[in-house]
Amino acid sequence: MPITVVGGSAADQQRVEDAADEVIIRLWQVTAGWLRARIQTRATTGTVILEECEDPLLLGDNVWHHYLWGLYTSKDEEIHICINNIGNNDDLLADVMLHEWAHSCCWSHGDNHGVPGNDGAPP
Ligand SMILES: [Zn+2]
Repeated sequence: MPITVVGGSAADQQRVEDAADEVIIRLWQVTAGWLRARIQTRATTGTVILEECEDPLLLGDNVWHHYLWGLYTSKDEEIHICINNIGNNDDLLADVMLHEWAHSCCWSHGDNHGVPGNDGAPP
C-alpha cells in the first residue's frame, strides 16, 4: 500500500512519494530498532499533508492527537510538510519527512537515535 499525499501540485505529490522511498533507504541511520520499524510503517502506509506555511523557518509539523484530562497522550499519525519552504530540495524533503515521521512515533528533539534535525533547528 502506498502512502497518501494530500494537497500540493501533482509534481510535488510525486516528489513526496519518491522521498518516502528515500526515507526507507535512509532508515539505516536510525539507531533504535523500534523507531526504525515504526518509521518504515509510516513511510509505506502513512499520510503526508502538503501545506504552504506562513512561518519561513517551519519545514514540517506533527501535532499532538489525543487530549485527555488535560494531557496530550498520543501524536497524530499524519505529518504536515511545508512544501513552500523546502522548495526544490529533495534531499531536505526526505530528511524532513523522516524527522516528522519520527515525531509521529513519539520521538522528541534530543532523543537522537540518528534522526536528522535532533536539535529541532532547520539544517
Ligand atoms: Zn522536530
